Amino acid sequence: MNTRFQKGHTVPQKWRNAVSEAQQGHIPWNRGIPMSETTKNKVSLSKKGKSVKHSGQFKKGFSPWNKGIGNKTSTIKKLRTSPKFKIWREKVFKRDNWTCQECGQRGGKSHPHHLKRLSEYPELCYVVSNGITLCISCHKLTDTYGNRNINRSLRNATC
Ligand SMILES: [Zn+2]
Repeated sequence: MNTRFQKGHTVPQKWRNAVSEAQQGHIPWNRGIPMSETTKNKVSLSKKGKSVKHSGQFKKGFSPWNKGIGNKTSTIKKLRTSPKFKIWREKVFKRDNWTCQECGQRGGKSHPHHLKRLSEYPELCYVVSNGITLCISCHKLTDTYGNRNINRSLRNATC
């Protein structure tokens, strides 16, 4: 068979065979065909470009999921674990006569609840007028109750 390059026949016989084999489903169409320098450069450039772009974005846009939360949590944790918190809690309980201000249940385990979110008004943490006595059931219904689950160590703390 004549494999000599001829004008008008731009596909070498080697390629034709490869395509033929590929069509039979046995061999990938480009098997054995050397990648041209142009293609290599294109691939190389595109890979380099992606790599640089990706790492750049990652460094620039990188921010831990809990960025900012940690400080807030530790601040609240400090407030809650302070001896002042126990004093405040007792004052709130005493004022409310250890009675749930929501359902009126007395006795059992009471929770002091901050009327204004501790996370938003940390300065009101020890203000008795910002506290209210709730039973556990009612406290669970407050919107800030779930926040305590962020940190297991805060499980027994109240907000
Ligand atoms: Zn209650």
